[in-house]
Amino acid sequence: MQLSVVLLLGLALTIVSSKSYHNGEMKAMTRILNELQISRRTGSSGWSYSDPAIWSLAYPNCAGHKQSPINVKTGIARDLYQDEEFEGFNLDSFYDIPSGDFTAINNGHTAQISLPSGAYTTTGGGLDGTYNALQFHFHWGADDASGSEHAVDGGRFPLEMHIVHTKEGYSIGGTPDALAVSDGLAVLGVFFELSDDDNEDLAPLIDALETLKDSEVGASISVPAFDVSVLIPENFEDLYRYQGSLTTPPCSEAVVWTLFKETIPISEAQLSAFRALPSHHGHIQPNFRPLQDLHGRHIYST
Ligand SMILES: [Zn+2]
Repeated sequence: MQLSVVLLLGLALTIVSSKSYHNGEMKAMTRILNELQISRRTGSSGWSYSDPAIWSLAYPNCAGHKQSPINVKTGIARDLYQDEEFEGFNLDSFYDIPSGDFTAINNGHTAQISLPSGAYTTTGGGLDGTYNALQFHFHWGADDASGSEHAVDGGRFPLEMHIVHTKEGYSIGGTPDALAVSDGLAVLGVFFELSDDDNEDLAPLIDALETLKDSEVGASISVPAFDVSVLIPENFEDLYRYQGSLTTPPCSEAVVWTLFKETIPISEAQLSAFRALPSHHGHIQPNFRPLQDLHGRHIYST
């Protein structure tokens, strides 16, 4: 790491001292220096929730006009049924528990559960084609007043889950690249709402978090496969839809977003299991990106 820093600085100085640099080289140098600055502040991961305003220096997509998350203004949402023949979601595969294990990881930014390849598929819900679920992960705050990435009419939730899918035939960074097309990814977003009692359905997930809490940042652990359907609202017909991006670098504008209106209950004690997860500099909290401008995009609602 230190050697590469020295080499990159050397390259930058060489370009400057040559006096024959072109615009492109200047841009490349600026980019390198920016990345160095960011990586100095954040460690090896390259970006941090303490500085979301400068993500775009190293990841230009983050300054785009179709960014996520957004505040869902329900008053301006258009009827999703109006434009097309709307067929409800088919989430049947989420009600089966696959044999084998899930892989849980604390990547320093979130707790993520990777799903067995091909085990979970989503169709319908206004999506064009079949989408394969890769993983789900969470966004939370330091207290109950915030945590969700999206807001609904300005209101926040203490926790938001994202189930990330790629369009069938596409893969992230592959050919064709799911990040390079506007509907390469579909993310199902679920809001959690504070409840007085523990939600017993979440026990296997909370157990996985307890194990991650005692593991190093970046360590993968195997957890027995559990029922993922308990993380999806019973009513998955009522939803918001809009076109957006990844909410973390590289902020690719490749996501068809679904936000379910019905929430899942979670207790204060269960939320604390998320907030206890270690990061490179303490604990992961908060880990939500600030709201992004709509820039004229439409929000749809069922
Ligand atoms: Zn997310």
